[in-house]
Amino acid sequence: MPVQVIRRPRMKNIRVRVVPPRGDIVLSCPFGVRSYEWQAVLREAWPRLMAARNRILQDCGENISPAGGRCRLWGRSYELRVVFTERASLARCTEGHVLVAVPPGSGREQIEACLYDLYRRELNRALPGILPLCEKLTGLKAKEVRLKRMQTRWGSCNIRERRIWLSLNLAKKPPQCLQYVIIHELVHLLEKNHTPEFHALVAKFYPDWQQAEAWLRGEPYDAGKGK
Ligand SMILES: [Zn+2]
Repeated sequence: MPVQVIRRPRMKNIRVRVVPPRGDIVLSCPFGVRSYEWQAVLREAWPRLMAARNRILQDCGENISPAGGRCRLWGRSYELRVVFTERASLARCTEGHVLVAVPPGSGREQIEACLYDLYRRELNRALPGILPLCEKLTGLKAKEVRLKRMQTRWGSCNIRERRIWLSLNLAKKPPQCLQYVIIHELVHLLEKNHTPEFHALVAKFYPDWQQAEAWLRGEPYDAGKGK
């Protein structure tokens, strides 16, 4: 598996990470680090990296194919079953698996699009419960909350329009993440930038932010253990 090595002038340590959506392995290190040094770091981190990579591929739908695969919903991993039908496309979560029905000949993209319809429905179902809670916690209110496919961010806030955008990918994450991201975006209505004041406000309204961040990064979620 190829590893991208980036040299950075102002770095102190060797850092290695897995980059969504394709799970590329990227190692960054200061100039002057010998290859055997970064290779040793890589070797030690390898099992952890591969586990993280598997989760990322699953989160990003990279392992979906017409033969099936796995997908996530609200933090849990489900077997994805694909059936081909001439009737309308459909995706639903049922009896421990996610069923996707698509027209014969459909490829990964159609299956994924169908899954995103499910994510949109799930988020629309969850929002009426979670949004008022976030507004109550922060005392802030957006004019509008909208959903779309976003690959690199979980949410964004148009401050002038007081409009919050949420990524459909949030339906793959534990429900707490949805609450955390909404609070983050609401706080932008007070503070545009990610200043220390901004983070202090988010931490005040959502004290368990570190756990939510970890789940968003792809740390495994144990639904039984989750708070
Ligand atoms: Zn932000």
